[in-house]
Amino acid sequence: MAVNIILPPPSLSLWHTKKLIYSTQIRFRIMSSASKSQPQSVASSAVYQVPGLDSHEMDSTADKTFERYSSNTAKRNGKGVSIVWFRNDLRVLDNEALFKAWVSSQAVLPVYCIDPRLFQTTYYFGFPKTGALRAQFIIECLADLKKKLMKKGLNLLIQHGKPEDILPSLAKAFGAHTVYAHKETCSEELQVERSVARGLRQVELSPAQGNSSRSSSTHSPKLQLIWGSTLYHLDDLPFSVGSLPDSVEAKCTIRGCIRLPTSLGPPPSVDDWGIIPSVEQLGLHSEKVVKGMRFLGGETAALSRVTEYFWNKDLLKIYKETRNGMLGPDYSTKFSPWLASGSLSPRFIYEEVKRYEKERLANDSTYWVLFELIWRDYFRFISIKYGNSFFHLGGPRKVEKRWHQDQKLFETWRNGCTGYPLIDANMKELSASGFMSNRGRQIVCSFLVRDMGIDWRMGAEWFETCLLDYDPCSNYGNWTYGAGVGNDPREDRYFSIPKQAQTYDPDGEHVAFWVPELLTLPKERRNFPGKSYIEQVVPLKFGSSNKHHSQRSKYGGRHSGLRNR
Ligand code: FAD
Repeated sequence: MAVNIILPPPSLSLWHTKKLIYSTQIRFRIMSSASKSQPQSVASSAVYQVPGLDSHEMDSTADKTFERYSSNTAKRNGKGVSIVWFRNDLRVLDNEALFKAWVSSQAVLPVYCIDPRLFQTTYYFGFPKTGALRAQFIIECLADLKKKLMKKGLNLLIQHGKPEDILPSLAKAFGAHTVYAHKETCSEELQVERSVARGLRQVELSPAQGNSSRSSSTHSPKLQLIWGSTLYHLDDLPFSVGSLPDSVEAKCTIRGCIRLPTSLGPPPSVDDWGIIPSVEQLGLHSEKVVKGMRFLGGETAALSRVTEYFWNKDLLKIYKETRNGMLGPDYSTKFSPWLASGSLSPRFIYEEVKRYEKERLANDSTYWVLFELIWRDYFRFISIKYGNSFFHLGGPRKVEKRWHQDQKLFETWRNGCTGYPLIDANMKELSASGFMSNRGRQIVCSFLVRDMGIDWRMGAEWFETCLLDYDPCSNYGNWTYGAGVGNDPREDRYFSIPKQAQTYDPDGEHVAFWVPELLTLPKERRNFPGKSYIEQVVPLKFGSSNKHHSQRSKYGGRHSGLRNR
Protein backbone atom coordinates (compact mmCIF):
# COMPACT_ATOMS: atom_id res chain seq x y z
CA MET A 1 0.00 0.00 0.00
CA ALA A 2 1.87 3.06 -1.15
CA VAL A 3 0.63 6.44 -0.05
CA ASN A 4 1.95 9.92 -0.20
CA ILE A 5 3.44 10.97 3.09
CA ILE A 6 2.89 14.53 3.95
CA LEU A 7 4.53 14.99 7.27
CA PRO A 8 2.64 18.05 8.24
CA PRO A 9 4.92 20.70 9.44
CA PRO A 10 3.48 23.16 11.81
CA SER A 11 5.60 25.57 9.86
CA LEU A 12 4.78 25.14 6.26
CA SER A 13 2.09 24.92 3.71
CA LEU A 14 -0.21 22.31 5.15
CA TRP A 15 -0.54 23.98 8.48
CA HIS A 16 -1.41 27.19 6.74
CA THR A 17 -3.85 25.36 4.54
CA LYS A 18 -5.52 24.10 7.67
CA LYS A 19 -5.62 27.57 9.11
CA LEU A 20 -7.36 28.89 6.04
CA ILE A 21 -9.87 26.14 6.06
CA TYR A 22 -10.61 26.59 9.73
CA SER A 23 -11.22 30.22 9.44
CA THR A 24 -12.99 30.87 6.21
CA GLN A 25 -14.50 28.75 3.50
CA ILE A 26 -16.27 26.02 5.35
CA ARG A 27 -17.12 27.76 8.54
CA PHE A 28 -20.84 27.62 7.98
CA ARG A 29 -20.81 24.09 6.72
CA ILE A 30 -18.89 23.09 9.82
CA MET A 31 -21.60 24.29 12.08
CA SER A 32 -24.57 23.06 10.07
CA SER A 33 -23.14 19.58 9.51
CA ALA A 34 -21.91 19.39 13.04
CA SER A 35 -25.30 20.19 14.41
CA LYS A 36 -26.81 17.28 12.48
CA SER A 37 -24.85 14.84 14.55
CA GLN A 38 -24.93 16.79 17.75
CA PRO A 39 -27.69 17.11 20.28
CA GLN A 40 -30.21 19.66 19.07
CA SER A 41 -31.00 21.08 22.44
CA VAL A 42 -28.76 21.28 25.42
CA ALA A 43 -29.64 18.79 28.11
CA SER A 44 -27.29 20.06 30.75
CA SER A 45 -26.71 16.72 32.45
CA ALA A 46 -26.47 14.23 29.59
CA VAL A 47 -23.83 11.49 29.65
CA TYR A 48 -22.77 10.12 26.28
CA GLN A 49 -21.16 6.72 26.45
CA VAL A 50 -18.42 6.36 23.82
CA PRO A 51 -18.92 4.09 22.00
CA GLY A 52 -22.68 4.11 22.27
CA LEU A 53 -23.09 0.37 21.59
CA ASP A 54 -24.30 -2.10 24.21
CA SER A 55 -21.90 -4.73 25.50
CA HIS A 56 -23.34 -7.49 23.33
CA GLU A 57 -22.91 -5.40 20.17
CA MET A 58 -19.38 -4.50 21.21
CA ASP A 59 -18.37 -8.10 21.86
CA SER A 60 -19.77 -9.21 18.55
CA THR A 61 -18.05 -6.34 16.70
CA ALA A 62 -14.72 -7.23 18.28
CA ASP A 63 -15.17 -10.96 17.58
CA LYS A 64 -15.93 -10.30 13.92
CA THR A 65 -12.92 -7.99 13.60
CA PHE A 66 -10.67 -10.57 15.21
CA GLU A 67 -11.97 -13.22 12.82
CA ARG A 68 -11.07 -11.00 9.86
CA TYR A 69 -7.63 -10.39 11.30
CA SER A 70 -6.62 -13.89 12.33
CA SER A 71 -4.36 -16.07 10.30
CA ASN A 72 -3.49 -19.72 10.56
CA THR A 73 -0.56 -19.60 8.20
CA ALA A 74 1.94 -18.16 10.68
CA LYS A 75 4.57 -20.68 11.81
CA ARG A 76 5.92 -20.99 15.30
CA ASN A 77 9.55 -22.07 15.33
CA GLY A 78 11.05 -21.05 18.67
CA LYS A 79 11.84 -22.77 21.89
CA GLY A 80 11.39 -22.05 25.57
CA VAL A 81 9.57 -19.10 27.07
CA SER A 82 9.31 -15.50 25.93
CA ILE A 83 7.78 -12.57 27.78
CA VAL A 84 5.61 -9.82 26.34
CA TRP A 85 5.90 -6.66 28.40
CA PHE A 86 2.76 -4.62 27.72
CA ARG A 87 3.19 -0.86 27.96
CA ASN A 88 1.17 1.62 25.90
CA ASP A 89 0.15 -1.13 23.51
CA LEU A 90 -2.82 -2.62 25.34
CA ARG A 91 -4.18 -4.60 22.41
CA VAL A 92 -3.97 -7.96 20.72
CA LEU A 93 -4.85 -6.97 17.16
CA ASP A 94 -1.82 -5.77 15.19
CA ASN A 95 0.53 -6.31 18.12
CA GLU A 96 3.90 -7.20 16.67
CA ALA A 97 5.58 -7.71 20.07
CA LEU A 98 3.00 -10.36 20.91
CA PHE A 99 3.38 -11.95 17.49
CA LYS A 100 7.17 -12.10 17.68
CA ALA A 101 7.04 -13.52 21.19
CA TRP A 102 4.72 -16.26 19.98
CA VAL A 103 6.83 -17.11 16.93
CA SER A 104 10.05 -17.32 18.94
CA SER A 105 8.89 -19.55 21.79
CA GLN A 106 6.85 -22.50 22.93
CA ALA A 107 5.13 -20.50 25.67
CA VAL A 108 4.38 -16.77 25.95
CA LEU A 109 4.07 -14.95 29.26
CA PRO A 110 2.18 -11.63 28.88
CA VAL A 111 2.98 -9.18 31.69
CA TYR A 112 1.81 -5.72 32.69
CA CYS A 113 3.65 -3.85 35.45
CA ILE A 114 1.74 -1.30 37.48
CA ASP A 115 4.59 1.12 37.82
CA PRO A 116 4.21 3.27 40.96
CA ARG A 117 5.99 6.15 39.19
CA LEU A 118 2.93 6.60 36.98
CA PHE A 119 0.93 7.50 40.06
CA GLN A 120 3.33 10.01 41.54
CA THR A 121 3.41 13.65 40.51
CA THR A 122 4.21 15.62 37.37
CA TYR A 123 7.76 16.83 36.87
CA TYR A 124 7.66 20.58 37.60
CA PHE A 125 4.40 21.44 39.31
CA GLY A 126 3.50 18.36 41.33
CA PHE A 127 0.06 17.58 39.90
CA PRO A 128 -1.05 13.94 40.00
CA LYS A 129 0.75 12.23 37.13
CA THR A 130 -2.29 10.14 36.31
CA GLY A 131 -5.73 11.45 37.20
CA ALA A 132 -8.50 9.14 38.42
CA LEU A 133 -10.38 9.14 35.12
CA ARG A 134 -7.36 8.01 33.09
CA ALA A 135 -6.52 5.45 35.78
CA GLN A 136 -10.05 4.06 35.43
CA PHE A 137 -9.68 3.99 31.64
CA ILE A 138 -6.39 2.06 31.89
CA ILE A 139 -7.92 -0.38 34.37
CA GLU A 140 -10.67 -1.06 31.84
CA CYS A 141 -8.05 -1.50 29.10
CA LEU A 142 -6.24 -4.07 31.24
CA ALA A 143 -9.42 -5.98 32.05
CA ASP A 144 -10.28 -6.15 28.36
CA LEU A 145 -6.74 -7.11 27.37
CA LYS A 146 -6.81 -9.97 29.87
CA LYS A 147 -10.12 -11.16 28.41
CA LYS A 148 -8.78 -10.95 24.87
CA LEU A 149 -5.59 -12.82 25.75
CA MET A 150 -7.59 -15.52 27.52
CA LYS A 151 -9.71 -15.96 24.40
CA LYS A 152 -6.46 -16.65 22.57
CA GLY A 153 -5.36 -19.24 25.12
CA LEU A 154 -3.11 -16.92 27.16
CA ASN A 155 -3.59 -14.70 30.20
CA LEU A 156 -2.18 -11.46 31.59
CA LEU A 157 0.11 -11.44 34.59
CA ILE A 158 -0.47 -8.27 36.62
CA GLN A 159 2.48 -7.22 38.74
CA HIS A 160 2.84 -4.18 40.98
CA GLY A 161 6.25 -2.56 40.81
CA LYS A 162 8.90 -1.19 38.50
CA PRO A 163 9.43 -3.08 35.25
CA GLU A 164 13.19 -3.08 35.85
CA ASP A 165 12.62 -5.02 39.10
CA ILE A 166 9.88 -7.30 37.87
CA LEU A 167 10.96 -8.35 34.39
CA PRO A 168 14.46 -9.63 35.21
CA SER A 169 13.14 -11.72 38.08
CA LEU A 170 10.34 -13.14 35.92
CA ALA A 171 12.83 -13.86 33.14
CA LYS A 172 14.98 -15.73 35.65
CA ALA A 173 12.07 -17.64 37.20
CA PHE A 174 10.66 -18.71 33.83
CA GLY A 175 13.98 -19.02 32.02
CA ALA A 176 12.68 -16.61 29.39
CA HIS A 177 15.12 -15.99 26.56
CA THR A 178 13.58 -12.68 25.39
CA VAL A 179 11.39 -9.88 26.64
CA TYR A 180 9.46 -8.31 23.76
CA ALA A 181 8.00 -4.83 24.11
CA HIS A 182 7.06 -1.79 22.08
CA LYS A 183 9.59 0.99 21.86
CA GLU A 184 8.87 4.38 23.40
CA THR A 185 10.55 7.70 22.58
CA CYS A 186 10.42 10.06 25.58
CA SER A 187 12.96 10.28 28.37
CA GLU A 188 11.05 8.69 31.27
CA GLU A 189 10.07 5.70 29.17
CA LEU A 190 13.56 5.40 27.64
CA GLN A 191 15.05 5.41 31.12
CA VAL A 192 12.84 2.46 32.07
CA GLU A 193 13.89 0.62 28.88
CA ARG A 194 17.54 1.10 29.75
CA SER A 195 17.01 -0.10 33.32
CA VAL A 196 15.13 -3.19 32.15
CA ALA A 197 17.90 -4.02 29.66
CA ARG A 198 20.51 -3.56 32.41
CA GLY A 199 18.53 -5.79 34.79
CA LEU A 200 18.19 -8.50 32.16
CA ARG A 201 21.94 -8.48 31.48
CA GLN A 202 22.49 -9.47 35.09
CA VAL A 203 20.31 -12.57 34.80
CA GLU A 204 22.14 -15.79 34.02
CA LEU A 205 20.20 -18.47 32.21
CA SER A 206 21.47 -22.01 31.96
CA PRO A 207 22.44 -23.37 28.53
CA ALA A 208 19.18 -25.32 28.38
CA GLN A 209 17.11 -22.16 28.78
CA GLY A 210 16.96 -20.34 25.51
CA ASN A 211 15.49 -20.53 22.07
CA SER A 212 18.39 -22.24 20.41
CA SER A 213 19.50 -25.83 20.92
CA ARG A 214 23.05 -24.74 20.08
CA SER A 215 23.54 -22.56 23.14
CA SER A 216 26.18 -24.26 25.29
CA SER A 217 27.07 -21.57 27.82
CA THR A 218 25.14 -19.43 30.25
CA HIS A 219 23.53 -16.38 28.74
CA SER A 220 21.18 -13.53 29.60
CA PRO A 221 17.68 -12.82 28.39
CA LYS A 222 17.43 -10.12 25.75
CA LEU A 223 15.16 -7.10 25.53
CA GLN A 224 13.77 -6.77 22.03
CA LEU A 225 12.04 -3.47 21.36
CA ILE A 226 9.66 -3.15 18.46
CA TRP A 227 8.35 -0.04 16.73
CA GLY A 228 4.57 -0.10 16.62
CA SER A 229 2.84 3.07 17.75
CA THR A 230 2.58 5.00 14.49
CA LEU A 231 0.99 4.73 11.08
CA TYR A 232 4.37 4.95 9.35
CA HIS A 233 7.05 2.63 10.58
CA LEU A 234 10.15 4.49 11.73
CA ASP A 235 12.32 2.28 9.51
CA ASP A 236 10.24 3.09 6.44
CA LEU A 237 10.68 6.87 6.55
CA PRO A 238 12.63 8.04 3.54
CA PHE A 239 14.91 10.14 5.78
CA SER A 240 16.50 9.73 9.16
CA VAL A 241 14.60 11.14 12.12
CA GLY A 242 17.58 13.36 12.92
CA SER A 243 17.02 15.12 9.62
CA LEU A 244 13.25 15.07 9.86
CA PRO A 245 12.15 17.85 7.58
CA ASP A 246 9.52 20.42 8.41
CA SER A 247 7.66 19.43 5.31
CA VAL A 248 8.02 16.48 3.05
CA GLU A 249 6.10 14.64 0.47
CA ALA A 250 7.45 11.26 -0.36
CA LYS A 251 6.40 7.77 -1.15
CA CYS A 252 6.10 5.67 1.94
CA THR A 253 4.48 2.34 2.45
CA ILE A 254 2.20 1.66 5.38
CA ARG A 255 2.76 -1.82 6.66
CA GLY A 256 -0.23 -4.14 6.87
CA CYS A 257 -1.63 -5.11 10.27
CA ILE A 258 -0.01 -8.12 11.91
CA ARG A 259 -2.34 -11.11 11.78
CA LEU A 260 -2.18 -13.41 14.75
CA PRO A 261 -3.20 -17.06 14.88
CA THR A 262 -6.48 -17.90 16.62
CA SER A 263 -4.66 -19.57 19.47
CA LEU A 264 -1.48 -18.24 21.09
CA GLY A 265 -1.40 -20.63 24.03
CA PRO A 266 -0.39 -22.24 26.13
CA PRO A 267 1.15 -19.82 28.61
CA PRO A 268 3.74 -21.10 31.07
CA SER A 269 2.35 -22.37 34.33
CA VAL A 270 1.67 -19.46 36.70
CA ASP A 271 0.24 -19.88 40.22
CA ASP A 272 -1.19 -16.42 40.62
CA TRP A 273 -1.96 -14.15 37.68
CA GLY A 274 -2.53 -11.17 39.96
CA ILE A 275 -5.49 -8.87 40.20
CA ILE A 276 -6.28 -5.74 38.24
CA PRO A 277 -6.40 -3.02 40.90
CA SER A 278 -9.21 -0.58 41.54
CA VAL A 279 -8.66 3.17 41.27
CA GLU A 280 -8.54 3.36 45.08
CA GLN A 281 -5.88 0.67 45.20
CA LEU A 282 -3.77 2.94 43.02
CA GLY A 283 -4.03 5.58 45.71
CA LEU A 284 -6.57 7.75 43.89
CA HIS A 285 -10.14 8.73 44.64
CA SER A 286 -12.48 7.17 42.17
CA GLU A 287 -14.43 9.66 40.03
CA LYS A 288 -17.60 9.05 38.07
CA VAL A 289 -18.45 10.74 34.81
CA VAL A 290 -21.86 12.25 35.44
CA LYS A 291 -21.85 14.61 32.47
CA GLY A 292 -20.32 14.67 28.99
CA MET A 293 -18.52 11.80 27.39
CA ARG A 294 -17.84 8.58 29.26
CA PHE A 295 -15.20 6.64 27.33
CA LEU A 296 -14.99 2.89 27.84
CA GLY A 297 -11.47 1.57 28.03
CA GLY A 298 -10.18 -1.44 26.12
CA GLU A 299 -9.73 -2.93 22.69
CA THR A 300 -13.33 -4.15 22.44
CA ALA A 301 -14.59 -0.58 22.90
CA ALA A 302 -11.91 0.78 20.54
CA LEU A 303 -12.85 -1.55 17.69
CA SER A 304 -16.51 -0.82 18.37
CA ARG A 305 -15.93 2.94 18.18
CA VAL A 306 -14.31 2.52 14.76
CA THR A 307 -17.30 0.49 13.59
CA GLU A 308 -19.76 2.91 15.12
CA TYR A 309 -18.15 6.05 13.68
CA PHE A 310 -17.23 4.70 10.24
CA TRP A 311 -19.88 2.11 9.49
CA ASN A 312 -22.95 2.39 11.72
CA LYS A 313 -23.26 6.18 11.86
CA ASP A 314 -21.49 6.74 8.55
CA LEU A 315 -19.72 9.82 9.93
CA LEU A 316 -16.38 9.34 8.22
CA LYS A 317 -17.64 10.97 5.04
CA ILE A 318 -18.35 14.28 6.85
CA TYR A 319 -15.40 14.25 9.27
CA LYS A 320 -13.61 17.18 7.68
CA GLU A 321 -16.67 19.38 8.03
CA THR A 322 -17.56 18.40 11.59
CA ARG A 323 -14.13 17.91 13.16
CA ASN A 324 -13.96 21.38 14.70
CA GLY A 325 -17.07 20.83 16.78
CA MET A 326 -17.02 20.81 20.56
CA LEU A 327 -20.16 19.10 21.82
CA GLY A 328 -21.15 15.44 21.82
CA PRO A 329 -19.43 12.29 20.64
CA ASP A 330 -19.92 12.54 16.89
CA TYR A 331 -18.15 15.64 15.56
CA SER A 332 -14.81 13.77 15.50
CA THR A 333 -13.63 10.18 15.73
CA LYS A 334 -12.75 10.19 19.48
CA PHE A 335 -10.13 7.54 18.73
CA SER A 336 -7.43 9.33 20.75
CA PRO A 337 -7.88 7.68 24.20
CA TRP A 338 -7.56 4.23 22.64
CA LEU A 339 -4.66 5.28 20.42
CA ALA A 340 -2.81 6.65 23.45
CA SER A 341 -3.25 3.47 25.49
CA GLY A 342 -2.44 1.42 22.41
CA SER A 343 -5.78 -0.39 22.47
CA LEU A 344 -6.21 0.76 18.88
CA SER A 345 -3.65 0.48 16.13
CA PRO A 346 -3.35 3.41 13.69
CA ARG A 347 -2.65 0.86 10.93
CA PHE A 348 -6.00 -0.77 11.66
CA ILE A 349 -7.68 2.63 11.29
CA TYR A 350 -5.85 3.07 7.98
CA GLU A 351 -7.10 -0.29 6.72
CA GLU A 352 -10.65 0.54 7.78
CA VAL A 353 -10.48 3.90 5.98
CA LYS A 354 -9.31 2.12 2.83
CA ARG A 355 -12.12 -0.46 3.15
CA TYR A 356 -14.64 2.37 3.63
CA GLU A 357 -13.28 4.16 0.57
CA LYS A 358 -13.70 0.99 -1.45
CA GLU A 359 -17.12 0.01 -0.15
CA ARG A 360 -18.74 3.44 0.41
CA LEU A 361 -16.88 6.49 -0.81
CA ALA A 362 -13.57 8.30 -0.82
CA ASN A 363 -13.52 12.06 -0.33
CA ASP A 364 -11.60 14.80 1.50
CA SER A 365 -12.99 13.63 4.82
CA THR A 366 -11.78 10.05 4.47
CA TYR A 367 -8.34 11.40 3.62
CA TRP A 368 -8.41 13.91 6.47
CA VAL A 369 -8.63 11.30 9.21
CA LEU A 370 -5.37 9.83 7.88
CA PHE A 371 -3.93 13.31 7.64
CA GLU A 372 -4.62 13.82 11.36
CA LEU A 373 -3.01 10.50 12.16
CA ILE A 374 0.07 11.70 10.30
CA TRP A 375 0.14 14.68 12.66
CA ARG A 376 0.20 12.22 15.48
CA ASP A 377 3.10 10.40 13.82
CA TYR A 378 4.86 13.70 13.29
CA PHE A 379 4.83 14.57 16.99
CA ARG A 380 6.10 11.10 17.82
CA PHE A 381 8.97 11.41 15.35
CA ILE A 382 9.95 14.91 16.42
CA SER A 383 10.07 13.71 20.02
CA ILE A 384 13.01 11.59 18.89
CA LYS A 385 14.58 14.49 17.03
CA TYR A 386 14.25 17.06 19.81
CA GLY A 387 14.48 14.81 22.86
CA ASN A 388 14.02 16.49 26.22
CA SER A 389 13.84 20.03 24.86
CA PHE A 390 10.17 19.24 24.28
CA PHE A 391 9.64 19.50 28.03
CA HIS A 392 11.79 22.57 28.66
CA LEU A 393 10.42 26.08 29.04
CA GLY A 394 12.17 27.36 25.91
CA GLY A 395 11.11 24.31 23.89
CA PRO A 396 13.06 22.98 20.90
CA ARG A 397 13.96 26.52 19.82
CA LYS A 398 15.20 27.50 23.29
CA VAL A 399 13.07 30.62 23.20
CA GLU A 400 13.84 33.07 25.97
CA LYS A 401 10.66 34.71 27.10
CA ARG A 402 9.25 35.87 30.40
CA TRP A 403 6.49 33.72 31.78
CA HIS A 404 4.94 33.82 35.21
CA GLN A 405 3.57 31.11 37.44
CA ASP A 406 0.80 33.00 39.24
CA GLN A 407 -0.88 30.16 41.10
CA LYS A 408 -4.17 31.98 41.70
CA LEU A 409 -4.57 32.94 38.09
CA PHE A 410 -3.62 29.46 36.98
CA GLU A 411 -6.28 28.01 39.26
CA THR A 412 -8.99 30.12 37.67
CA TRP A 413 -7.99 28.55 34.35
CA ARG A 414 -7.72 25.04 35.75
CA ASN A 415 -11.05 25.22 37.56
CA GLY A 416 -12.92 26.95 34.77
CA CYS A 417 -13.56 30.25 36.58
CA THR A 418 -11.91 32.78 34.27
CA GLY A 419 -15.07 34.69 33.41
CA TYR A 420 -14.80 33.60 29.76
CA PRO A 421 -17.52 30.99 29.15
CA LEU A 422 -15.63 29.36 26.28
CA ILE A 423 -12.55 28.77 28.44
CA ASP A 424 -14.54 27.79 31.52
CA ALA A 425 -16.73 25.31 29.65
CA ASN A 426 -13.76 23.57 28.06
CA MET A 427 -11.83 23.36 31.32
CA LYS A 428 -14.87 22.00 33.16
CA GLU A 429 -15.29 19.42 30.42
CA LEU A 430 -11.67 18.34 30.84
CA SER A 431 -12.01 17.86 34.60
CA ALA A 432 -15.37 16.11 34.37
CA SER A 433 -14.68 13.75 31.48
CA GLY A 434 -10.93 13.63 30.76
CA PHE A 435 -11.59 14.89 27.25
CA MET A 436 -11.62 18.18 25.37
CA SER A 437 -12.05 18.78 21.65
CA ASN A 438 -9.04 19.75 19.56
CA ARG A 439 -10.60 23.17 19.00
CA GLY A 440 -11.08 23.59 22.76
CA ARG A 441 -7.49 22.55 23.49
CA GLN A 442 -6.12 25.13 21.08
CA ILE A 443 -8.29 27.87 22.55
CA VAL A 444 -7.52 27.18 26.23
CA CYS A 445 -3.82 26.79 25.44
CA SER A 446 -3.74 30.14 23.64
CA PHE A 447 -5.64 31.80 26.49
CA LEU A 448 -3.28 30.47 29.17
CA VAL A 449 -0.07 31.38 27.39
CA ARG A 450 -1.05 34.51 25.43
CA ASP A 451 -3.75 36.18 27.48
CA MET A 452 -2.64 35.09 30.94
CA GLY A 453 1.10 34.91 30.14
CA ILE A 454 1.40 31.81 32.32
CA ASP A 455 4.21 29.27 31.98
CA TRP A 456 2.89 26.89 29.35
CA ARG A 457 4.27 23.89 31.21
CA MET A 458 1.66 24.41 33.95
CA GLY A 459 -1.04 23.92 31.33
CA ALA A 460 0.74 20.99 29.73
CA GLU A 461 1.16 19.25 33.08
CA TRP A 462 -2.49 19.80 33.97
CA PHE A 463 -3.42 18.20 30.63
CA GLU A 464 -1.02 15.38 31.51
CA THR A 465 -2.99 14.77 34.70
CA CYS A 466 -6.44 14.90 33.18
CA LEU A 467 -6.45 13.74 29.59
CA LEU A 468 -7.62 10.20 28.88
CA ASP A 469 -5.59 10.42 25.68
CA TYR A 470 -2.48 11.84 27.32
CA ASP A 471 0.56 11.00 25.29
CA PRO A 472 3.81 12.88 25.94
CA CYS A 473 4.57 13.40 22.24
CA SER A 474 1.19 14.78 21.19
CA ASN A 475 0.69 16.72 24.41
CA TYR A 476 4.05 18.44 24.69
CA GLY A 477 4.32 18.71 20.90
CA ASN A 478 1.05 20.62 20.71
CA TRP A 479 1.79 22.71 23.79
CA THR A 480 5.20 23.80 22.53
CA TYR A 481 3.57 24.90 19.28
CA GLY A 482 0.75 26.61 21.10
CA ALA A 483 3.22 28.44 23.31
CA GLY A 484 5.31 29.51 20.31
CA VAL A 485 8.38 27.57 21.45
CA GLY A 486 8.01 24.67 19.00
CA ASN A 487 10.37 24.30 16.12
CA ASP A 488 8.47 26.77 14.00
CA PRO A 489 9.34 30.41 14.60
CA ARG A 490 6.69 31.69 12.21
CA GLU A 491 3.70 30.24 13.90
CA ASP A 492 1.65 32.79 15.83
CA ARG A 493 -1.12 30.91 17.48
CA TYR A 494 -3.33 33.49 19.10
CA PHE A 495 -6.92 32.33 19.22
CA SER A 496 -9.39 35.15 19.67
CA ILE A 497 -12.09 33.99 22.07
CA PRO A 498 -14.91 36.13 20.63
CA LYS A 499 -14.11 34.97 17.13
CA GLN A 500 -13.76 31.34 18.13
CA ALA A 501 -17.01 31.48 20.07
CA GLN A 502 -18.91 33.01 17.18
CA THR A 503 -17.51 30.50 14.73
CA TYR A 504 -17.57 27.27 16.67
CA ASP A 505 -20.26 27.76 19.30
CA PRO A 506 -22.58 30.39 17.78
CA ASP A 507 -25.62 29.26 19.77
CA GLY A 508 -23.66 28.85 22.96
CA GLU A 509 -24.66 25.18 23.17
CA HIS A 510 -21.27 24.02 24.37
CA VAL A 511 -20.89 26.72 26.98
CA ALA A 512 -24.44 26.27 28.26
CA PHE A 513 -23.91 22.53 28.54
CA TRP A 514 -20.88 22.97 30.79
CA VAL A 515 -21.87 26.20 32.52
CA PRO A 516 -25.61 25.64 33.03
CA GLU A 517 -26.24 29.07 34.52
CA LEU A 518 -25.81 30.39 30.96
CA LEU A 519 -28.74 28.29 29.73
CA THR A 520 -31.26 30.93 30.68
CA LEU A 521 -29.57 33.56 28.51
CA PRO A 522 -30.52 34.10 24.86
CA LYS A 523 -28.31 31.90 22.65
CA GLU A 524 -26.32 34.78 21.21
CA ARG A 525 -25.43 36.03 24.70
CA ARG A 526 -24.27 32.76 26.23
CA ASN A 527 -20.69 33.34 25.11
CA PHE A 528 -20.94 37.05 25.88
CA PRO A 529 -22.90 37.19 29.14
CA GLY A 530 -21.55 40.49 30.47
CA LYS A 531 -22.55 41.08 34.07
CA SER A 532 -24.70 37.95 34.11
CA TYR A 533 -21.56 35.89 34.60
CA ILE A 534 -18.48 35.98 36.81
CA GLU A 535 -15.95 38.74 36.29
CA GLN A 536 -13.19 38.20 33.75
CA VAL A 537 -9.86 37.56 35.48
CA VAL A 538 -7.68 39.11 32.75
CA PRO A 539 -8.37 41.21 29.69
CA LEU A 540 -7.78 39.63 26.29
CA LYS A 541 -4.45 40.49 24.77
CA PHE A 542 -6.10 41.15 21.45
CA GLY A 543 -9.71 41.75 22.28
CA SER A 544 -12.51 42.53 19.97
CA SER A 545 -14.25 45.61 18.72
CA ASN A 546 -17.22 43.38 18.26
CA LYS A 547 -20.45 44.77 19.68
CA HIS A 548 -20.63 41.98 22.23
CA HIS A 549 -17.39 42.79 23.90
CA SER A 550 -17.55 45.92 25.86
CA GLN A 551 -17.09 44.20 29.19
CA ARG A 552 -14.37 45.41 31.49
CA SER A 553 -12.02 42.86 32.93
CA LYS A 554 -11.11 42.65 36.59
CA TYR A 555 -7.93 44.56 35.76
CA GLY A 556 -9.72 47.26 33.86
CA GLY A 557 -8.65 46.23 30.38
CA ARG A 558 -10.99 46.93 27.50
CA HIS A 559 -11.15 44.72 24.46
CA SER A 560 -9.76 46.31 21.37
CA GLY A 561 -9.29 45.12 17.79
CA LEU A 562 -9.96 41.54 16.73
CA ARG A 563 -6.87 39.71 15.59
CA ASN A 564 -5.78 36.37 14.37
CA ARG A 565 -7.92 33.25 14.58
P1 FAD B 1 -9.85 13.46 15.49
O1 FAD B 1 -10.07 14.85 15.03
O2 FAD B 1 -10.89 12.48 15.19
O3 FAD B 1 -8.46 13.00 14.86
C1 FAD B 1 -8.13 11.62 14.64
C2 FAD B 1 -6.84 11.31 15.35
O4 FAD B 1 -5.77 12.09 14.80
C3 FAD B 1 -6.84 11.64 16.82
O5 FAD B 1 -7.42 10.60 17.58
C4 FAD B 1 -5.36 11.83 17.11
O6 FAD B 1 -4.73 10.61 17.32
C5 FAD B 1 -4.83 12.43 15.82
N1 FAD B 1 -4.74 13.89 15.95
C6 FAD B 1 -5.65 14.81 15.59
N2 FAD B 1 -5.19 16.06 15.82
C7 FAD B 1 -3.96 15.91 16.35
C8 FAD B 1 -2.96 16.82 16.81
N3 FAD B 1 -3.13 18.16 16.77
N4 FAD B 1 -1.83 16.31 17.31
C9 FAD B 1 -1.62 14.99 17.37
N5 FAD B 1 -2.52 14.10 16.94
C10 FAD B 1 -3.67 14.54 16.44
N6 FAD B 1 -3.74 14.38 21.36
C11 FAD B 1 -3.45 13.25 22.01
O7 FAD B 1 -3.71 12.16 21.49
N7 FAD B 1 -2.86 13.28 23.25
C12 FAD B 1 -2.55 14.45 23.87
O8 FAD B 1 -1.98 14.42 24.97
C13 FAD B 1 -2.88 15.66 23.21
N8 FAD B 1 -2.66 16.86 23.79
C14 FAD B 1 -2.96 18.03 23.11
C15 FAD B 1 -2.67 19.26 23.70
C16 FAD B 1 -2.98 20.46 23.03
C17 FAD B 1 -2.65 21.79 23.66
C18 FAD B 1 -3.58 20.39 21.76
C19 FAD B 1 -3.92 21.66 21.01
C20 FAD B 1 -3.85 19.19 21.16
C21 FAD B 1 -3.55 17.99 21.82
N9 FAD B 1 -3.82 16.73 21.24
C22 FAD B 1 -3.48 15.58 21.91
C23 FAD B 1 -4.27 16.63 19.84
C24 FAD B 1 -5.80 16.60 19.61
O9 FAD B 1 -6.42 17.63 20.29
C25 FAD B 1 -6.44 15.26 19.99
O10 FAD B 1 -5.71 14.19 19.43
C26 FAD B 1 -7.88 15.19 19.45
O11 FAD B 1 -8.63 16.25 19.96
C27 FAD B 1 -8.51 13.88 19.85
O12 FAD B 1 -9.84 13.81 19.44
P2 FAD B 1 -10.28 12.84 18.27
O13 FAD B 1 -9.69 11.48 18.49
O14 FAD B 1 -11.73 12.92 18.11
O15 FAD B 1 -9.52 13.49 17.04
